[in-house]
Amino acid sequence: MAKRRKVVHSPSIAADRICPDGLDDPAISAEVERLLSRRTRDIRLNDQINRLYRDRAWPQTAKIIRAWMIWVAILGVLTLGLNLLLLPPDVSKSMILPSAMLPPIALAVALVWRRPRAPWLQGSLLVAGVFAILLSIALVGVSAGGEFYERHLSIMLFVAITAIIIFGIPLAWTAIIAALALGLYFVFQLTNPSLNLGSALASTLFFSTGVFATVAARRNMTILAQKTFLFELRDRRRVSELAEVNDRLASLARTDPLTGVANRRWMEETIDQLWDKGNTGPDRVAMLMCDIDEFKKLNDHLGHAEGDRCLIQVATLIQKHVRRSRDHLARYGGEEFLVILPGMSETDALCVAERIRESVEAAALPHPTSVVSRYVTLSIGVAVQAPADEKVSSEQLQRSADAALYQAKQSGRNRVVIHRPAQTGTRGRPDGAAGKTAPRAASPSSTSA
Ligand code: GH3
Ligand code: MG
Ligand code: MG
Repeated sequence: MAKRRKVVHSPSIAADRICPDGLDDPAISAEVERLLSRRTRDIRLNDQINRLYRDRAWPQTAKIIRAWMIWVAILGVLTLGLNLLLLPPDVSKSMILPSAMLPPIALAVALVWRRPRAPWLQGSLLVAGVFAILLSIALVGVSAGGEFYERHLSIMLFVAITAIIIFGIPLAWTAIIAALALGLYFVFQLTNPSLNLGSALASTLFFSTGVFATVAARRNMTILAQKTFLFELRDRRRVSELAEVNDRLASLARTDPLTGVANRRWMEETIDQLWDKGNTGPDRVAMLMCDIDEFKKLNDHLGHAEGDRCLIQVATLIQKHVRRSRDHLARYGGEEFLVILPGMSETDALCVAERIRESVEAAALPHPTSVVSRYVTLSIGVAVQAPADEKVSSEQLQRSADAALYQAKQSGRNRVVIHRPAQTGTRGRPDGAAGKTAPRAASPSSTSA
């Protein structure tokens, strides 16, 4: 977050925007950089990053697993139907029981993977489900016997390989599925009446190499997916940092560094927006031009540093009297502050101005050389655009507030003066209008020294 002084106003700083997923954690960033600097095949995610990866990858993985389960269930039902139609009744009947196991198991696993659950639960249910599916395929062949025996063991391995290759699950789970598939194959080949031990071993070894290659391919795909995820983490962090720096720059460009309130540039943008919104100008808006009295003398007598402190305190006091959500305050010049009060009536604007003036006076900030008071005082010029008035430009309203301020200075300082259209003469910039003291509530103050 950008450093600000006591007063905080409208120029928003979004620099405190939180980086998503806690990626602003320096430990994660450092680990991401460390992993990306290594060879791809050496990438091993730590627990924290692995959790983020799992959260990110889970929806896709779960979708694939559910689709595979449904595919296997449909295939199981179709195959059984075809077998019943095409095969001799004694063979097809022997297939019914083991075949019937498959669809409910596959659908149960699909159901479990609809929502995220504890990884160990999802992992064990998946492995158990795949094992049961493979067992059911193998048992179909074993029950039918003959040519179907060997064929269904091969189908079982084929099904296992599709699962290994497309399930983006942790390597340990993949390895267990591969081992279970080969184990089933080996056990049923051992009990295959038409094979001896040597043939059973040879065919198992042959298929083991294929399954092993599939597991290795799966591992490489997972590492590549993890590397892509690491790049994504890095990009997101960099984008977030860039946005933060941009926010800070934008904020600095709009903030007065001494007081922390908005600067003149920001106020001019705000005024433009306000007048653009209402096309020819807002229906109702008030401007307060506030100027510290005899500030030069304060600087001369107490020093520039004390002058700076005084500016900060006055900005803080003014800030307290403006509505945070609607009003706008800016340091407009050296010791001048401009306040815009959208939607405010003349009476209310005068009240706000008077409260600001009083609070500065009540703060009793020392000003030993002022001719007005022993304390710092403020003169305020007020100009109001009321709904019944002819619309004026923002420049015209500023000139009016300035003229009223001039009048406040002329008539003794430490007071609020409202501009009336009939007035003439402005502070150093005559425009045919001059300040006039406000009605009773905000008339030239009797508190001046
Ligand atoms: P008046 O009552 O008529 O407003 O008199 P003034 O002395 O307040 O007005 P003037 O315009 O003569 O002086 C303004 C002074 O504000 C002059 C300048 O040194 C001082 N000033 C402007 N910017 C800063 C600032 O950032 N810090 C400090 N300490 N003083 C500043
Ligand atoms: Mg002044
Ligand atoms: Mg001034």
